[in-house]
This record gives sequence, C-alpha cells and structure tokens, in this order.
Amino acid sequence: MLKLTSPSTIKYIMDKYGFRFSKSLGQNFLIDEQIIDRICDGAEIGPDDDILEIGPGIGVMTQEMAERARKVVAIEIDRALIPVLKETLAEYDNVEVIHADVMNVDLKALIAEKFEGRRPKVVANLPYYITTPIIMMLLEESIPVSDIIVMIQKEVAERISAKPSTKAYGALSVATQYYSEPNIIAKVPRTVFMPQPNVDSVVIRMTIRMEPPVSLENPTLFFKVIKAAFGQRRKTLHNALNAGGFGQSKDQTAEFLRACDIDPSRRGETLTIEEFATLANHIYNHNQNQKN
Ligand code: SAM
Repeated sequence: MLKLTSPSTIKYIMDKYGFRFSKSLGQNFLIDEQIIDRICDGAEIGPDDDILEIGPGIGVMTQEMAERARKVVAIEIDRALIPVLKETLAEYDNVEVIHADVMNVDLKALIAEKFEGRRPKVVANLPYYITTPIIMMLLEESIPVSDIIVMIQKEVAERISAKPSTKAYGALSVATQYYSEPNIIAKVPRTVFMPQPNVDSVVIRMTIRMEPPVSLENPTLFFKVIKAAFGQRRKTLHNALNAGGFGQSKDQTAEFLRACDIDPSRRGETLTIEEFATLANHIYNHNQNQKN
C-alpha cells in the first residue's frame, strides 16, 4: 500500500495523475502520521462512528478513519483528485467519495441518505480559505452532526474558543459557543504539511450542544445585537448599540442596558453569552410591548 504521508509518494501521485497543488483550493496535505493519529484520537473515532470528511485530498486521513470507523463519506471539490482517491482508497469498502463543493451540497439530505439518520462526526483538515464559512454553515443550518473535529488556522481557533475580555473574543466566539462547546486539542506546526502554509494550525473539537446554553426569545435579534456590539470594538456598548439602531434615542439605549444590569460604558467584548441573551431578550420584549 502507498504510504501517503511520504513526500516521495505524493510526488509519484503528482507524476502519475498530472496533479498540481492548487493554492486557491487550500491544498496543504498532511505528511505526518502522528498528527493524523492525534486528530483521530481527539475525535475518539471508534467502530460505531460515522464520519463526514471535507476535503480528503489524496486520502491520507481518510485511510486512517476508514480503519477505525464504521463508514466514511468524503466530499472533495477537486476533480483531479477523484481518480487518485479511487486508487488510494481502493481497499476500503466503507468509504464513499463524493465529488462536490461542500458549500453546494444538501448536507441534511446527504446525511439522511448515507448515514441512515445517524449523526456523523465531521473530521477534516479544512482548506484555510473557507474555514469559517464551512463551520458557520454546519452550525447555523443545524446540520445533524455530533461533533466537528477540524484542523484550522491557529488564529481562527483562538477566536472560536475565546473567553470574554480577551483580544480574540468576538462575534465568532459567541456564535460558535452558542451552538457548540469548543476545545483546542492539539497544536500543529506548519512543517507537517506539503506544501507548507505560512500559518500555524490547531486541531479543535467542537461538540454540538443538544440544548442552547441560553434561552432566546428571538435568535435573529440576539445575533444582530452581537454584530452591533462587536462591529465597532473601540466604542462603548452604549454607542455601538445606538449606532446599530437599538433604541430610538441614546437615553433609551442606555435604559435597555441598565435594565439588564449592564453598565453602558462597558465594551461589547466584556459581555458573556448570558448577558448578550438577557439584553437581546429585553430589547425583544420591549419591542413586542410597543407593538401591542
Ligand atoms: N485531508 C487532506 C490532508 O489532510 O492531507 C487534504 C487537506 S487540504 C488542507 C484541503 C482539501 O479540501 C483539499 O483536498 C481541497 O481540494 C479540498 N477542498 C477545498 N475546497 C473545498 C470545498 N469547497 N469543498 C470540498 N473540498 C474542498
């Protein structure tokens, strides 16, 4: 069997299939077996697990996951890699490769069909150019997966797992923590990829919450408040929310905040997810009362 972590195998595949790395598709392939084991260990892949892989590349993680899991479905956008995957995954009868752009796939229908209603784990070394859109699509569209275990750019992982009052805390932190419990499980140097990217990576595990951590009157309004609060980080929450159209006057915006025991001079980045929820629910109830 070809050893896919070996640079000489990758060169052999490139020659045989005329494959060239595409920078625009974020193609940085793993060439380190230990990292692959750490991702699979971190994902706790066992014989009862179903796996949805995004971007299998030449199949280096796919092979290891096929050894450990019940079934792996891998979605790869690059047509040039499809015949390669046919060869590298030939000996596994529990792997299916789908040639598609993950952003254009009806994932709910695909999961229902391929995994017969079971919730797979998403395990992937994600292409950097589209990391956040893929994660947000999985979360916001409530794609029925149990966990998302992905290798992503270090800075994005820090933002996802950031706590209030830190530099990395922002709209992405609150949104992802509303839907999931994130944990960074491994730091990965850039040297384990071919070609080497110019950023470091981490493996993050996001366990999807079955129940949201806060109860919301209106999730759309909650996310609008967050967007406004972080939209202008230098402003106080009072000014940022007022500029975002929350409150008919500055006095009213301040009133909303005080009613929720939030000092109007605080900055958005200091609010916890619970405080954002209290504030959004208060504004929603106020607006409803005005209507009646
Ligand atoms: N899993 C392989 C590995 O670890 O060596 C490859 C990882 S590489 C960082 C990202 C992979 O995602 C590439 O194979 C790339 O072609 C694929 N990809 C990029 N954009 C995609 C998309 N929108 N949908 C599906 N696959 C995509």
